[in-house]
Amino acid sequence: MDPKIIGSYPMEIIDSHCHLDDFFYEGKIEEVLANAEQASVTRMVAVGTHPKDWEFYAEFVRNHGHIFHTVGLHPLVAKNEKELDQLPIFLGKEIKPVAIGEIGLDYHRLPPEQRAKDEVIEFQKLIFVKQLELAKANDLPVVIHSRQAFDDTFNILINSGIRGGKILFHCYGYGVPEMEKLKSFGAFVSFAGTLTFRKGQAEPLKIANPDRLLIETDCPYLTPEPHRPKRNEPAFIRATARFAAKTLDMSENDFCNLTHKNTEKFFALK
Ligand SMILES: [Zn+2]
Repeated sequence: MDPKIIGSYPMEIIDSHCHLDDFFYEGKIEEVLANAEQASVTRMVAVGTHPKDWEFYAEFVRNHGHIFHTVGLHPLVAKNEKELDQLPIFLGKEIKPVAIGEIGLDYHRLPPEQRAKDEVIEFQKLIFVKQLELAKANDLPVVIHSRQAFDDTFNILINSGIRGGKILFHCYGYGVPEMEKLKSFGAFVSFAGTLTFRKGQAEPLKIANPDRLLIETDCPYLTPEPHRPKRNEPAFIRATARFAAKTLDMSENDFCNLTHKNTEKFFALK
């Protein structure tokens, strides 16, 4: 356990976005879950990106009642449209996913050549739209991954007919104008560890609708300060929560209480 995390945490917290499969395959999952428990991270939403982790989570959640899961084909992980064929099977499993995600658009590393670039964008849009249709048909909320693609993401969401309250922009990385748009749309937003080390994130956080605000680790990526350069894990959500509470001039407990309620509401957690 990282000594920086030890303390007493009367207020429980939910990690609304994490990836646990790597920890499992490396034999570290029990340690990571014990650390989370010690930090009162009482529940977690494990987010799918590809058929391989859909399979893993479908099995894993059977023995871990406090972990919920989602299924979705990530724009940077997707290889072909065929991968989507299996998604409905996972929606019909005994323990149902709590959302479709993470899905969306990522224009961060597009190929330089115009034709190749257009192809990637078209492919990302295609699988995004198809998964939104599935979410709508199954009345499931959606976890959005969107990077350097706000306008396209937003337009596709508006055209999908899914209401804002069913949409969560995870790992918020856009600015104030985009936050204003999401606010009027009624979408949820979630902040990750980047809040503690990347400039320009405090302003959008300050204007976010408090009733639509969540917090996450996105572990094993995006470790918050002061835990960098360690690998991120759910227990470290405490550092991001503390930072966010301070930014919002709230007590840590009030902040945890607020995001806890919002997370339960968005994913309809029991
Ligand atoms: Zn993620």
